[in-house]
Amino acid sequence: MVNYKDLGLVNTRDMFAKAVKGGYAIPAFNFNNMEQMQAIIQASVETSSPVILQVSKGARNYANQTLLRYMAQGAVEYAKELGCEKPQIVLHLDHGDTFETCKSCVDFGFSSVMIDGSSLSFDENVAVTKKVVEYAHKFDVTVEGELGVLAGVEDDVVAEEHTYTRPEEVEEFVRRTGCDSLAISIGTSHGANKFKPEQCTRNAEGMLVPPPLEFSVLEACEKNLPGFPIVLHGSSSVPQEEIATINKYGGAMKDAIGIPEDQLRRAAKSAVCKINIDSDSRLAMTAAIREVFALKPAEFDPRKYLGPARENAKKLYKHKILDVLGSANKL
Ligand SMILES: [Zn+2]
Repeated sequence: MVNYKDLGLVNTRDMFAKAVKGGYAIPAFNFNNMEQMQAIIQASVETSSPVILQVSKGARNYANQTLLRYMAQGAVEYAKELGCEKPQIVLHLDHGDTFETCKSCVDFGFSSVMIDGSSLSFDENVAVTKKVVEYAHKFDVTVEGELGVLAGVEDDVVAEEHTYTRPEEVEEFVRRTGCDSLAISIGTSHGANKFKPEQCTRNAEGMLVPPPLEFSVLEACEKNLPGFPIVLHGSSSVPQEEIATINKYGGAMKDAIGIPEDQLRRAAKSAVCKINIDSDSRLAMTAAIREVFALKPAEFDPRKYLGPARENAKKLYKHKILDVLGSANKL
C-alpha cells in the first residue's frame, strides 16, 4: 500500500474547485513513456500550470503500471528540479473498467481514478461507481464517473455511436455515487478520426469543418449540478499542420479531424474543469519522427528522433495550456 501523498502527488479536489470558479480547465495528458512525461512536466513548469498525468489501460499494458507510477513520482522531483517549488501533479487512472482495477491503482499510489461504467445500465453504473468512491475516499483519492457514451476508439474503449449524456440523470448519479467529477458526452469522441467526412461541412479552403459540440447538453448539466466539476474526454483538436507533416513524409492519415480549439476554449470557461488530450501528442510526436526519418535516413540514434518528438509534443502541450485551457499561472 502506497499513499500518493507520500509521493508528493495531489488529488483533484482543490484543483477542480479553483478551475470551476476561475473559468479554466486543467489539462489531462496521457503518457506512456519517458519522453511524453518529460514534455508534459516541462510544459507545465514553464507555464506554471497544474497538470494531470493520465494512465490508460493501454499505457499500463505497454509500459507497466509499476514503472509508470515511479515515473510519476519522479515527475514531482523533476518539476522541482526545473524550478517549480510546489508542483501540483495528479496521477490519474483513465477509463478504469472494474472496481478491482481502480482499487489496485488506489493501493498503488494513484491520486485519482476514473471508473467508466458508461456501457452499463444506469443502476449498474451507479453501483460500481459508488463502490469505487467508497474505497477511494478512505484514502482521499478522488473519483471521476461517466454518464453518456463517447464514440471512437481509445485503446480498447470502442464505441460506434455516441449517446449524449441525459442532463436529467446527472444530479441523481452524483448524489447516489458521491463521485468528485463527471465525464459527460456532448459530441467529443476518442481518436484522431472524430468525425466522418459526411458528418462535416467544408469551408472556403475545402477543409472539413466538424459539427459543433452540443453546448445545450453541457448547459443543462451545469444547471442541474451547479458548480460541479465536469470532464470532457476525446478533446484533441487534431492539428492539421501535424497531419500535413505526417502525410508529407510518407504517412497515410486520411480525413483526420478533431474538435476545433475555439469550442474547447468555450467549454473550459464553463464548469468543464478537466479536458483530456491524447491523440494530439501522438500526432505531434509522429510528425517529428517521420520528418527526421525522411530527411535523415542514415540516422539511427533513438535520441535523434525521440528528442525532436519530445520537443514537438512540448510545444503542443504549452499551446494547449496557454491558448486553449487557460490553466497557465494557476499554481
Ligand atoms: Zn476517454
